[in-house]
Amino acid sequence: MNLVKMEVLFDRSELRKKVAEMGQQITKDYSGRELLVVGILKGAFIFMADLIREIDVPIEVDFMDVSSYGLSTSSSGEVRIIKDLEYSIQDKDVLIVEDIVDTGLTLKYITEILRNRNPRSLKICCLLDKPSRRKADISPDYVGYIIPDKFVVGYGLDYAEQYRNYPDVYILKPSVYEK
Ligand code: 5GP
Repeated sequence: MNLVKMEVLFDRSELRKKVAEMGQQITKDYSGRELLVVGILKGAFIFMADLIREIDVPIEVDFMDVSSYGLSTSSSGEVRIIKDLEYSIQDKDVLIVEDIVDTGLTLKYITEILRNRNPRSLKICCLLDKPSRRKADISPDYVGYIIPDKFVVGYGLDYAEQYRNYPDVYILKPSVYEK
């Protein structure tokens, strides 16, 4: 791993503890119900895989893929569905799982679409939140960590499709993308 380009923000043992706490809270809040967990690809896939194993109510999973930053580190504000859900969410308790909420524009778009499909409930769970950059009125119901305005990678998060497999969350040094 090329750690010259990055510094650890949250290591794997902190992440494991945090994700377990989040799973316990979700288990409590949805006790006696069934949950449809919707992962937003690609960034959420590792967080989601860990999170659902900490949730102790019956769950189904589905995925949505929307256009992301591509090679840039800031949002264009334009969001496009690349892959839609496989199943109907009507009358279901839906929990959206996202890696990081930044401007909130992606989730604003996704929640508007999903709300129109009449789920019984719709909540948002994210591992990381950068509220200082918010442009859309989005407040996640479950947040792992609030972080400053830095670009992070690892634990599913990429820069130009790299670093998703790094097991910790790192701050990427701006020299990597500021050229
Ligand atoms: P938003 O629409 O809230 O601005 O952007 C959300 C998406 O932008 C996230 O799902 C993620 O793909 C990407 N993103 C935002 N901030 C970061 C970051 O610090 N690191 C990485 N790797 N992706 C980010």
